[in-house]
Amino acid sequence: MASTASHIILHVAVASPLYRLFDYLPPKNLDVTTLIPGMRVEVPFARSKRFGVLVASSNKSDLPLSKLKRALSCHTENIVPAELLDLCRWAADYYHHPLGEVFATALPTLLQRGSSVPASKHSHWVLTELGQQSDTALLSRAPKQRALAEKFLQTPSQGLNRDQLQSCDFDWRAALKGLIDKQWVTPCDNTVSPLAHEASRKIKLNDHQDQAVKQIKQSQQQFQCTLLEGVTGSGKTEVYFEVISSALAQNKQCLLLVPEIGLTPQLSQRLAQRFGQTYQTYHSGLSDGERARTWQAAANGDINIIVGTRSAIFLPLANPGLFIIDEEHDLSYKQQDSFRYHARDIAIRRAQQLNIPIVLGSATPSLESRENASKGRYQWLSLPERGGKAIPPTVGLIDMRRQALNGALSPKLISHMNATLEKGEQVLLFVNRRGYAPALLCHDCGWIAKCHRCNANMTVHQATNSLRCHHCGSQRRLDKHCGDCQSEDLTTVGFGTEQIEDSLKKIFPYQRVIRIDRDTTAKKGSMDELLNKIEEGQGDILVGTQMIAKGHHLPNVTLAAILNADQGLFATDFRALEHLAQLIIQVIGRAGRGEKPGHVFIQTHHPEHPLLQTLISEGYQCFSGKLSEERRNAALPPFSYMALLRAEAVDESSPLNFLNTAKEQAETMLGDNPQQIYLLGPIPAPMTKRAGRFRAQLLIQASSRSSLHALLYPWVRQLDELKLARKVRWSIDVDPMDMN
Ligand code: ADP
Ligand code: ZN
Ligand code: ZN
Repeated sequence: MASTASHIILHVAVASPLYRLFDYLPPKNLDVTTLIPGMRVEVPFARSKRFGVLVASSNKSDLPLSKLKRALSCHTENIVPAELLDLCRWAADYYHHPLGEVFATALPTLLQRGSSVPASKHSHWVLTELGQQSDTALLSRAPKQRALAEKFLQTPSQGLNRDQLQSCDFDWRAALKGLIDKQWVTPCDNTVSPLAHEASRKIKLNDHQDQAVKQIKQSQQQFQCTLLEGVTGSGKTEVYFEVISSALAQNKQCLLLVPEIGLTPQLSQRLAQRFGQTYQTYHSGLSDGERARTWQAAANGDINIIVGTRSAIFLPLANPGLFIIDEEHDLSYKQQDSFRYHARDIAIRRAQQLNIPIVLGSATPSLESRENASKGRYQWLSLPERGGKAIPPTVGLIDMRRQALNGALSPKLISHMNATLEKGEQVLLFVNRRGYAPALLCHDCGWIAKCHRCNANMTVHQATNSLRCHHCGSQRRLDKHCGDCQSEDLTTVGFGTEQIEDSLKKIFPYQRVIRIDRDTTAKKGSMDELLNKIEEGQGDILVGTQMIAKGHHLPNVTLAAILNADQGLFATDFRALEHLAQLIIQVIGRAGRGEKPGHVFIQTHHPEHPLLQTLISEGYQCFSGKLSEERRNAALPPFSYMALLRAEAVDESSPLNFLNTAKEQAETMLGDNPQQIYLLGPIPAPMTKRAGRFRAQLLIQASSRSSLHALLYPWVRQLDELKLARKVRWSIDVDPMDMN
């Protein structure tokens, strides 16, 4: 049938839990020859209006023409390019998630709504000649302007970009305006070629780095996935920069993904030193306008280096040339709610489609990537030594059994701390939780303060005199009485960063303690400020959570310790040991990064634990080899493939009932096909109740990826038709990383 204008039907992805596209007639008076997939379309939807993405048009619909509504308008700006459209469709299929919701994650908010992108604002500012010559003491009556001028003077020739300014702990906009009014600072928009900046600052690579760069460059024009396994401080970043340079020389765009921009300190500074202010960042800390602008600039090919977090993998690229995933093992690449994608895995798929190289870097590769490398699917390169003069730290276990503890610190650790501090060097202590203590206990009857909405203990926060739930955020004043027997004899159990800070102040009254966790860094810029304090020697002991374990380079830290490593040793989640080892290696990587040798201690009640022993004496590669064998023998990922069907509801029985029916349905679909698929459960989730909802889960485990997806595809798309589906919220998690 010839398609006449009146018969054209738009197939639109609208964000909704339904797995299908929605059909509409084109808007009135629209020239249908202008329709392009990837356009944003405004449509009437369930008594209101919504924006969706035009996925295709045809002259067929499952509904009679008379039932179709007319779309309201089509937007021709910022059309999602075909390649990105395909990627989103693939991701929706792979993760069994509705396409409309995939777009809702992949596109910046402004563009989802079809809005136009606000006019470009200045992206960076530089000192004028006047500013370079003036004495900042002149600004003594404008302390913020003075602080900002001093920040500019730290790198006088490069200027500062928005990201760098955002790390100020004061209102930088007002201060910047002040400096511009005084003509000390001026906006700068000349996007000089990033390579023009290069010559000024290049480190001479060592042989391992050189070799790695050569190997990666060998397949610069085609898909090749490289796993770059380099010990902490081995100079992976320098390798990235070198291959970025070479892609830039061919006018290609490079996308560098990092777990969290704020926790990847010095990266902005290093990028600016190497490539000038020509890179752009993309992360959730930007305004809607900034995100939309970066999206547009990437699509137009106006920027060549993009550094972003998870969702940056969905940026459109005019001339894609290289993907780099730093800390590829990091859990923050996996989105843990709604559209549960893994940015690394999507990146690999996308690189393959684009036929460009991708580099996965880590000191502690995930077992998945390790397995792919050992099968020869990835090229495996290693940087076994630290890059500069630094030598690897010594690592020792401290047996905590029968030790007299001084606020969770063993006598041995305290004596090492004393020795370190006496030399004027710094100490870093890692604690796995924030707050004062993870539980409040009645000494008379054993009652423990629980969250009313979760099946979890409340954490004691002494500083605010409160109990907080770290799972749902609810809080209340610190209980004075036991909830059962009314006794006032309440005591805390275990320890968190706040308590360690307290005891440190008692044990080391003359040392300055700096605590870094989510409570002390809630304010924008405070993280950088605290790290700078440490770096400038205004603190002696740094205590903190995972936040301090990431890539910071603190050359005067020569002693690091993990106060309690035992939790991960016996956790039920089969990935717990892998994550514990990654964390230990990261903490070890913080010590002795300068020229002075470093020492690391791990306090444990299980010093004989064989895997801990392997990790300490033979290193991560050997450890992960052994762990891999264990996984293989137990047929756990990466030697099998999993999906987790979760359900939650306000009543206790619905989630399990729903999952039981879903399981029966899956069993029927599988029939007598011996496809090696196991349906395990349903069982209540490890945390049975969270934020007022009961939770349960069904694990699907398969020996091959294709058989897993063969089941999931039809099954997941029918689940909503189950009567019980109306009583629960359910979700499917493909390749789940967190089994809670
Ligand atoms: P990674 O990314 O592997 O943790 P970095 O690239 O951050 O390592 O390097 C760690 C430190 O070693 C940095 O201070 C860096 O400047 C320095 N470094 C890296 N490579 C070299 C080299 N070839 N020569 C001298 N110093 C180097
Ligand atoms: Zn009691
Ligand atoms: Zn709670």
